Amino acid sequence: MNFLEERIVKDGIVKEGNVLKVDSFLNHQMDIQLFDQMGAEFKKRFEGKKINKILTIEASGIGIACVVAMHFNVPVVFAKKSKSINIEGDTYVAEVESFTHKCKNQVLVSKKFLGEDDHVLIIDDFLANGCALQGLISIVNMAGGTVEGIGIAVEKGFQVGGQIIRNLGYQLESLAIVDSMDPSNGTIQFREQ
Ligand code: 5GP
Repeated sequence: MNFLEERIVKDGIVKEGNVLKVDSFLNHQMDIQLFDQMGAEFKKRFEGKKINKILTIEASGIGIACVVAMHFNVPVVFAKKSKSINIEGDTYVAEVESFTHKCKNQVLVSKKFLGEDDHVLIIDDFLANGCALQGLISIVNMAGGTVEGIGIAVEKGFQVGGQIIRNLGYQLESLAIVDSMDPSNGTIQFREQ
């Protein structure tokens, strides 16, 4: 088991409805030392890629993306979830269905912060059905930029997102892939990587 898998076993909580709760260290209270290890690991996995920007989505991707960005020495842009468009100027807009909140959001990125010269690493905390990632990918495409790779903390391998994104040909690196989890006894099975 790697460092993130070990932490998930120690502090993750398996909930009904295919939800893994990791809010004590990943997406509510945040363990910055752990994020730093994740940043170092992504830096290794995307070695040699020309990355000049990190893109994530609010809210829970932002903390991880910022620490990862320190390892790449590049800025972070986060897509804003919004129902009312109130950010200045022109925006790229994609529709994203939330797995956890079961609602549709528009996500927005200002055209000022993403363009055709950008080589983007997309970072997020979870990959479930892949809606959030597909929204972010389409925003990079609208901007004429290049998706160099995608880094995820926890992929739920029993949902379709990972397969969809890999089939599209992207380098998708998930630090922990959960193949199954059982809410009745809290056990979690990880995919060998
Ligand atoms: P997707 O768009 O891939 O279906 O879902 C990704 C988003 O849903 C992530 O950004 C994350 O915020 C949330 N999410 C999906 N599954 C889980 C889960 O099991 N636990 C938590 N905490 N968040 C999840």
